[in-house]
Amino acid sequence: MNAEIITIGEEIISGHTLDTNSAYIASKLSEIGIAVRYRVSVGDRVEDIEEAILAAWNRSAVTIATGGLGPTTDDITKKAICNAFDRKLVFHDDLLKLLENRFRNLNRKLPAMAQNQALQPQGAELLDNPIGSALGILFQEDERCFISLPGVPSEMEAIIDQSVLPLLLKREGRKHIEIRRIRTTGITESELAQAIADLEPIRENMWLAYLPGHQGTDLRVVCRSENEAEAKAEVDKLSEAIVGRVGEFIYTIGDQTISEVVGSLLKNGGKTIATAESCTGGLMAKYLTDVPGSSEYYRGSVVAYSNEIKQSVLKVPPEMLEQYGAVSAQVAEAMATGVRSLIGADFGLSSTGIAGPDGGTPEKPVGLVYIGCAQASGVVSKKVNLFGTRHRVRERSATMALDILRKIMIGR
Ligand code: ATP
Repeated sequence: MNAEIITIGEEIISGHTLDTNSAYIASKLSEIGIAVRYRVSVGDRVEDIEEAILAAWNRSAVTIATGGLGPTTDDITKKAICNAFDRKLVFHDDLLKLLENRFRNLNRKLPAMAQNQALQPQGAELLDNPIGSALGILFQEDERCFISLPGVPSEMEAIIDQSVLPLLLKREGRKHIEIRRIRTTGITESELAQAIADLEPIRENMWLAYLPGHQGTDLRVVCRSENEAEAKAEVDKLSEAIVGRVGEFIYTIGDQTISEVVGSLLKNGGKTIATAESCTGGLMAKYLTDVPGSSEYYRGSVVAYSNEIKQSVLKVPPEMLEQYGAVSAQVAEAMATGVRSLIGADFGLSSTGIAGPDGGTPEKPVGLVYIGCAQASGVVSKKVNLFGTRHRVRERSATMALDILRKIMIGR
């Protein structure tokens, strides 16, 4: 089963709005083993949308369009759908009542513009929108289906999760799908591929996908089978082989973020943490406090950007800064020790490095970062060489720091 995504809107093709809808839909489809073959974007002209719909209908088993469904866009997508499928718009009295009721429950009157939502292409099945007024539109034939969804990402996502994915699975004949997410950090996508290339699944209906993100690369192992136990066994087998090869870079098998993994370790161990940040400028604190309930273990932070603050607040000795420079193992360790005792936490975690784009030297190039981690038993530091833009170097440094802490806590 191959799929096509059409995103509709002038703001998409002009680049003013980033097309995140396509990415969301494509990744959700890949999770259930449906490959996207085309992604098309069109502007607000009804004829262009009609042409895109017809091209997709002729070449793709599943077409999902987003945008142009609501009153603010003058319902252009509905007009194009009616032209493409040779239908008329028909009025649904029950839909109008439903919408009026929804608005009444919110103590509001249904705006005149929204009443158009009761007009739908003849013969279309409608997909409930739990958080908005524009319903999804569905046409199905034996071999093909066409789905049109509102452009607002939260509404589109809700309809995809609640209606579209179950529908597509049903069309596939209810095959069982087993999905496992293996999350890695500290290893690049190409290094990962190199390490596990020969493990790639050779069985039909099984996939291994690489999904690089800003905190590392996720691997997704998917197996589709008539038999649930068989799908699970195949996924277990491949996952275990991957863990055998690159286990040290895996921070979880599942959906938890690295901040959540570290948070759980701290919480379960009854430990607290404080951070001292130079090049990450507060990003470690942000990552740690992204997790709800982090107040149980996160104590606070010192953003010690200047040498002065490193000395006066974190008590890094001036001779140490003079001798080794701010970007050094010694200073990273002194910062971690300093913040730990200043704030009174079980762990002190620090960063000092050169985020760039300027400030690098041959001895200390851009991307050189030291992470320090102090606890009652002593202090350690790790030197890392990162690449990428300033933004990426900072993100990677903060992520590496969390991973170093994670490894210390699990005794690796
Ligand atoms: P409504 O008219 O009720 O707002 P709609 O279905 O007509 O809904 P659009 O007007 O096309 O949707 O888009 C609404 C908003 O959703 C856009 O302003 C944009 O911010 C966002 N949006 C639309 N398409 C996309 C997309 N492909 N990716 C990310 N955001 C999008």
